[in-house]
Amino acid sequence: MSLLVVGSVALDSVETPFGRKEDILGGSATYFSTCSSFFTPVRVVAVVGEDFPEQHVNFLRGRGIDLEGLTRESGRTFRWKGRYGYELNEAQTLDTQLNVFQAFSPKLPESYRDTPYVFLGNIHPELQSQVLDQVRAPKLVAADTMNFWIQGSKPALLKTLKRVNLLFVNDAEARQLAGEHNVVKAARAILGMGPQRVVIKRGEYGALLFEQDHIFACPAFPLAEVFDPTGAGDTFAGGFMGTLATSPGPVDNALLRRAMVMGSVMASFTVEKFSLERLREVTRPEIHARFAEFRKLTHFDDLGPLER
Ligand code: AMP
Repeated sequence: MSLLVVGSVALDSVETPFGRKEDILGGSATYFSTCSSFFTPVRVVAVVGEDFPEQHVNFLRGRGIDLEGLTRESGRTFRWKGRYGYELNEAQTLDTQLNVFQAFSPKLPESYRDTPYVFLGNIHPELQSQVLDQVRAPKLVAADTMNFWIQGSKPALLKTLKRVNLLFVNDAEARQLAGEHNVVKAARAILGMGPQRVVIKRGEYGALLFEQDHIFACPAFPLAEVFDPTGAGDTFAGGFMGTLATSPGPVDNALLRRAMVMGSVMASFTVEKFSLERLREVTRPEIHARFAEFRKLTHFDDLGPLER
């Protein structure tokens, strides 16, 4: 089944302890769609400016991503500048330039309106809502957001959340959104805001899935080298949603667990290199092999009797 994503297509400038790059391909919709295109047909709703290199458009098209909803407007492309310290878990945003996103009003091509799986990537929550106004009867709507919107556009975000089935946030965002320090309490508070499921991403410490009656914990793949964490969250969401969209059955707990693991698998590739460099070259056998590694990593036998 197909997937629809609305989000940013960006030019990022990123600084990590291991290097620095200017105006490289980034954006929530870019990472998400590149990742999920391994699994299922993907449709993108986004905007770029006149300065967005055609080679990036060709790359996305070459991955089979449907770009009918990607428009090019006069002005500059959205830009984000971030820095990571040795503690690679959280980006410090140095600059955000909305540029063409400022006047963006998403219009879904008719062919997108019946898409069963919808991912509202990290953009202004009002734009996320505008997309939901245009889809007909989605099977599942997931969303992502970040501190920028929690701080600056909380009322609009709370409105969007009422229409969302699943929210992806990192632990700092969950705390900020819920006003709760403890992550479990924060997750419960978010479940009261609309979504029936919340996934809390914790960087190198893995991710937690909360439903009303279940919690599932998935580790991050233990990598010896993490190069650039940008896009890990959107790639996680792409692997997660791609797994849901390829499964014909109901969205049950077993499927959600596999989706969590696939999200972690795909994110673990993204962080190995700058920008989308690693996602560009990763192969299906590598994805399968890392999924199998995850099973080994987390397997353990039953306890048996406790004897003194
Ligand atoms: P993440 O997966 O959370 O690391 O997201 C990384 C991507 O988010 C970067 O490539 C940025 O271009 C994009 N981004 C950062 N800030 C914003 C924002 N305020 N709105 C939309 N996209 C953003």
